Amino acid sequence: MSDKNGQETLGFQAEVRQLLQLMIHSLYSNKEIFLRELISNASDAADKLRFEALATPALLKDDPDLQIVVAFDAGSKTLSVTDNGIGMSREELIENLGTIAKSGTAEFLQQMTGDSQKDARLIGQFGVGFYSAFIVADKVEVATRRAGLESRDGVRWESDGQGEFTVESAEINKRGTTVTLHLKDAESEFADELRLDSLIRKFSDHIGFPVLLQNLGETDSEPKTVNAATALWTRSRSDIGEDEYKEFYKHIAHDFVDPLCWSHNRVEGKREYTSLLYIPARAPFDLWNRDAPRGLKLYVRRVFIMDEAEQFLPLYLRFVKGIIDSADLPLNVSRELLQQNPELDALRSALTRRVLDMLQKMAANEAQDYEKFWGEFGQVFKEGLVEDQQNAEKLARLLRFASTHTDSAKQDQSLSDYVARAGEGQDKIYYVLGDNFETVSASPHLEQLREKGLEVLLLYDRIDSWMVDHLPEFEGKTFQDVGRGQLALPDGDGQITQEALNDENKPLLKKIRRTLKDRVEAVNISQRLVDSPACVVTGEQDLTPQLRRLLEASGQELPKSKPILEINIEHSLVSRLSAEADDERFRELSNIVLDHALLAEGAQLSNPAEYVRRINQLLLEIGSGNADQHT
Ligand code: ADP
Ligand code: MG
Repeated sequence: MSDKNGQETLGFQAEVRQLLQLMIHSLYSNKEIFLRELISNASDAADKLRFEALATPALLKDDPDLQIVVAFDAGSKTLSVTDNGIGMSREELIENLGTIAKSGTAEFLQQMTGDSQKDARLIGQFGVGFYSAFIVADKVEVATRRAGLESRDGVRWESDGQGEFTVESAEINKRGTTVTLHLKDAESEFADELRLDSLIRKFSDHIGFPVLLQNLGETDSEPKTVNAATALWTRSRSDIGEDEYKEFYKHIAHDFVDPLCWSHNRVEGKREYTSLLYIPARAPFDLWNRDAPRGLKLYVRRVFIMDEAEQFLPLYLRFVKGIIDSADLPLNVSRELLQQNPELDALRSALTRRVLDMLQKMAANEAQDYEKFWGEFGQVFKEGLVEDQQNAEKLARLLRFASTHTDSAKQDQSLSDYVARAGEGQDKIYYVLGDNFETVSASPHLEQLREKGLEVLLLYDRIDSWMVDHLPEFEGKTFQDVGRGQLALPDGDGQITQEALNDENKPLLKKIRRTLKDRVEAVNISQRLVDSPACVVTGEQDLTPQLRRLLEASGQELPKSKPILEINIEHSLVSRLSAEADDERFRELSNIVLDHALLAEGAQLSNPAEYVRRINQLLLEIGSGNADQHT
C-alpha cells in the first residue's frame, strides 16, 4: 500500500513476529529493561554521529551538544526517548525495525518451549533491543531523520506489535530519533517522575551523554539532567561501584544477567589505553556460529569508533565483552587500517594476558563462579591450546576435567589437582578419550589403572583429541593416552615387554590374528584389562578414533587404518576361545570379541547386520543347549 506520503504497511519478518510474542510473555517480570534498551540505542546513535562527524564535521554543527531526553505525560500515558544522534533513513528504518539481522535467529527461536521461565533465560542470551518496548506499550511510534538529510526526508514508523508496521514520509525539523511509547493501561508507573528518575540513574549513569527527564504534563517544565554523564571507564576504579560496573556490562553486552567478573585497567607510558573487560555468566545463543559478531567496542580518546573490533582478542576468547579506549590509534582507524597497525599485536597480547589473569584470579578466589564459567565457555577456551601456544602454560592451569577421582561428568578437576594426588613414581598424566562421559568412564582401558588406584582424566568433548595433542608437559609430567600403544604403569608391571608377554601365548595370538587379519593390525596380550575380555587400542603413530571420526564427519578422506586388538588372557571367554577346536566357531567367537571391543570404545561396526546374525546364532545355540558342549 502506498499513497502520496509514501505510506506503506509492511509485515514484520517472521522471526520478529515470533520474538515479539515470546518476549512480551517471558520478559514481563523484567519489563523495565525496555528503558535501558531505548536509552542504549539513543546513546549508540549519538556515538555513531560523533564518529561520522569526524569525517564530516557539518553533520554536528547546527546542534553540537549530543543528548538524550526522556519525556513523559501521565495524562496521556506516553513516554518518549529522544536523541539528536545519527537518525535513520527510510530504508534503514524498515531494515532495522522490521527484521532481525542476527544469523541463526530462526534456529534459536525454535528452542523456545512456551515455559516462560525457561524462555526468559533463552531470550536473555539473545538480546531483544528495540522490540522490548512492546512489553509495556500497545503502540510504538518512531519519528526519525537521518543526519545530513533535509527536514522533508523525515520518516514516521508506527506499530502495535501485532505483526505489521506502517512507515510514511514526514516533515521532521531536527536530526535524530524520537521513540514514543503509548503505555498499556497497567503500565502507567512508567509515566511517573520518581520511577523514571531512579531507572535512568540505574541504567545510564555510566553513559557519556547527558540524559534529561522532562514532565510534559506540567506546563513550562524544563528538562533536567539526571545522570552523571561521564563514560564509566574514564573514571577511577575506586569511584565506581559494583552495580555501576554491572549496569555498564548490560549496556554494552545487551545481557540481562550480571557478569561473573571484570577487569578495568588504565595503562600509561609508551602505550596509552584503558580497557574494561568482562566475563559473562552465560554463553550467547550464537557462540558456536563462526560468523557471529564478537570483539570489543573500540574508542579512540573517548570517541566511539566501532563495535565488534575482533582484532584485540584471539578467537578462543570470543566470549569476552568490553571496551578498549586507545590514546594512540588514529581517529580515522578502520578495520583494515587496524589490522595493519604495528601496535595491534602488542595490544592483543596485553589484553589476552589480562583476560587470562582475570580467569586465574577467579579460579583461585571464586571457585563457584569459575565452575560456571567453565560450564559455559570451557569448550571454546580449550581451542586456545591450539590457537595460542605462547600462553599454553597459563592455559593448561585453567583447564578443568572430569576424572576417575570423582567419577562424575562434572569437569571440575585441574591439572594441579591431579598432580598433587599422583604418587611419587608417576611421571605421566593419564587420560582416556571418547565420545561421551558414559563411554569413557566405562572404558575397558581404565580397568588396570582403576585397580592400581591411578587417576585418569576423562576427555569426551569434541575438541579434546585436538587439544591434548597441543598440551605441553605439566609440572614435569607428560600426557599419556591410556588407549594408545603399550601402557607402562608405574609399579613396574609395565616393564615386561609386549613381546615377552606375547611369547607365552603365541599359538593363540597367531590363530586370532589369522582369523581377523582383515580387521586388525595386530593382536596382543593386554596389560590394561581386568574385567573385560578384550579391547582395541590405537597404534603409537595412528590417529585416535575420536579424531578419525571427527575428520571423517567433516568429509576428509583418510587412509584406512586397523586397530590393535588386545585380549585379557585371564578372562574365561578367552580361555574358552583358546579351547575352541571347531574352526568355524572360533571364527565366529573371535569376531564377536572384536565387535564388542569396538562397541565398548564407541565405534560403529562396519557390518552391523553380520554382527547381529552372529549374536542371534549364539542365542539360538544357548536356547537349544548346544552351547554347553563347548564350555
Ligand atoms: P541493537 O541495538 O542490538 O542493534 P536494537 O533492536 O536495539 O538492536 O536496534 C536495532 C537497530 O535499530 C539498531 O542497530 C540501530 O541501527 C537502529 N536503531 C534503534 N534505535 C535507534 C536510534 N535511536 N537511532 C538510530 N538508530 C536506531
Ligand atoms: Mg539496541
